[in-house]
Amino acid sequence: LIIRILKEKGVVIKSTGSWYVVKTTKDEFVDCRIKGRFRIKGIRSTNPVAVGDKVRFIRTVDNTGVISDIEERENYIIRKATKLSKASHIIAANIDQAYLIVTMVKPRTSRGFIDRFLVTTEAYHVPCSIIFNKIDIYDKETLELHNNLVNLYTSLGYPCYSVSAITGENIDDLKDNLKGKTTLMSGHSGVGKSALINSLDGELDLRTGDLSDVHEKGKHTTTFAEMFELGFGAKIVDTPGVKEFGLFDFDRKEVAERFPEFRNEMKHCKFSNCSHVHEPGCAVVEAVKEGRIDIVRYQNYISIINDDYFELKEWD
Ligand code: GDP
Ligand code: ZN
Repeated sequence: LIIRILKEKGVVIKSTGSWYVVKTTKDEFVDCRIKGRFRIKGIRSTNPVAVGDKVRFIRTVDNTGVISDIEERENYIIRKATKLSKASHIIAANIDQAYLIVTMVKPRTSRGFIDRFLVTTEAYHVPCSIIFNKIDIYDKETLELHNNLVNLYTSLGYPCYSVSAITGENIDDLKDNLKGKTTLMSGHSGVGKSALINSLDGELDLRTGDLSDVHEKGKHTTTFAEMFELGFGAKIVDTPGVKEFGLFDFDRKEVAERFPEFRNEMKHCKFSNCSHVHEPGCAVVEAVKEGRIDIVRYQNYISIINDDYFELKEWD
């Protein structure tokens, strides 16, 4: 007697910690659990399966599923489970790109937050674009400041989009870029993420200001991330409640590598283990003085390497 166990394929689109919603290749949504413990090489995480994971599962009699296999990930983003914890959450896997949504007003997104986010996406090898929202309400002075930032970040290799979710300005450019990709969307609450997603796809009808409420309804379930599809063929990964991705197991020396404009300069530092803070003959400091490296970017570098939130190893 041969019993063939039929395994179905799908992608995890939502994870609450104990249940995973899997969208099958036949566009069916199946609630799945995992059985036993998945051991993934080199990662100690509280959630072995993440949104974006390509999985196989076995259907059970109650029409739920048990996940049996996870395909190897192209990339993943993790963060510490809690500030002091040694364990981590995998937030999402198999991401094509990240969108950092920011605003210059109401409220202004800090440069510190932007640079921290970019360091993180650099570390995970996820290309990041910066979306400046609410351009409809920038005054002349704000617009000038915005232009400077667009020039700076574009020159560093981060594409910038300036849009308004309210007037629809430049939303089509975003659509072109989102099409056919899986995009992680992040930003502080209030930047207009829900409004932006609504303006991309009217059918979805996320009520503005409600996005986080919806997720906080069930107090005992933490939604780490959720993937949804927009009508024109874009997959969005939303990370409710995750304001920052702290870097996990990150080598302090690595931080400078994650600043693209430091990379070339660093080669010319007098000491090979230069921290670019106080050493004589530091080419990075020299470039800051000569205006080739933006001073705020450098200050944010200093702030990051002194930050306890990042679990950084000491210099050797
Ligand atoms: P979220 O917390 O990031 O999801 O932000 P929401 O989408 O809920 O938007 C927060 C507030 O900003 C709401 O009052 C929106 O109406 C407003 N808002 C969002 N996008 C824009 C925009 O492009 N222009 C203006 N003027 N207001 C916006
Ligand atoms: Zn140096």
